[in-house]
Amino acid sequence: MSKLRVAVIGLGIMGGGMAARLLSSGFPLSVYNRNKDKAAPFASAGATVASSPREAASGAEFIISMVADDVASRGVWLGENGALAGAARGAVLIECSTLTVSWIKELAAAGVQRGCELLDAPVTGTKPHAANGELSFLVGGSDAALAAARPVLSVLGREIIHLGPTGSGSLLKLINNFMCGVQAASLAQAEAMIAAGGLDLEKSLPVLTHGAPGSGLVQRAAARAFANDFTPNFPLHLMAKDLGYAIDQASQFGQKLTTASSALAIFKDAIAKGYGDQDFSAVIKSQRQG
Ligand code: NAP
Repeated sequence: MSKLRVAVIGLGIMGGGMAARLLSSGFPLSVYNRNKDKAAPFASAGATVASSPREAASGAEFIISMVADDVASRGVWLGENGALAGAARGAVLIECSTLTVSWIKELAAAGVQRGCELLDAPVTGTKPHAANGELSFLVGGSDAALAAARPVLSVLGREIIHLGPTGSGSLLKLINNFMCGVQAASLAQAEAMIAAGGLDLEKSLPVLTHGAPGSGLVQRAAARAFANDFTPNFPLHLMAKDLGYAIDQASQFGQKLTTASSALAIFKDAIAKGYGDQDFSAVIKSQRQG
């Protein structure tokens, strides 16, 4: 059983599953979540529940953050009582949230000032993958930091892909999610078109999901929408966040991510209709309503 001390900051859909997995694998764990109610079950499972990111990080050799966006990440690392202030020299910082490359680079530089290396290690996979140790990590950072973190990441994921220096994992994650968002938005419009043309959805949908457009994401989103089950595995507003980040990143490369922009407009419309906290597949429901 490993004795590596780990902190997990952010116990939402993904961070909560990851923390539970680390606990059941025998890692001494400290946890922090802004909303204290989400942290309480981890105390009874044997984790130390901290009252701040700083407290969670102190004494940990690996500090994992899994929060919503750049604002949340900045707050938990650098805010008042942030994790970096509690991090011991030599601790490895592992930022698993889907964030902008520019923020990741800024955070890595702040880590260096503290004597800590950062890995950006965003993930593919969703709620069940987080709970079952089946994530794929897209990693940016040094070979040495990744070698040190491997025993922790291996418990959480079945695949660890080292893409290059700091920011590389985050960049590929944004590319990955912009494609996911575009596919989901196109499925939403396809379903709306099926309905507008009076086609039978039950007959028509499998033609798409089992045919050339039927990616894994399209298949899963179509199944959720067909079952009218929009309990969030991946909240819709986070997909919109990722599309926005990808568009901004591409513009820094002088690229216009026009497909992502179109998809983002559809996701923003879904948020305006009140679907932001539902699963991203609710974008399909939002288009059903015209
Ligand atoms: P979630 O369930 O909504 O959890 C978000 C977490 O961020 C919660 O712990 C929340 O704390 C915290 N948070 C939000 N704003 C904060 C702030 N200003 N200060 C401190 N904490 C804050 O989201 P999730 O699905 O776990 O996603 C977490 C990250 O993983 C996101 O970057 C997402 O894009 C990425 N991701 C998600 C999936 C997925 O399928 N769900 C897959 C891959 C990657 P509270 O509980 O206090 O609100």
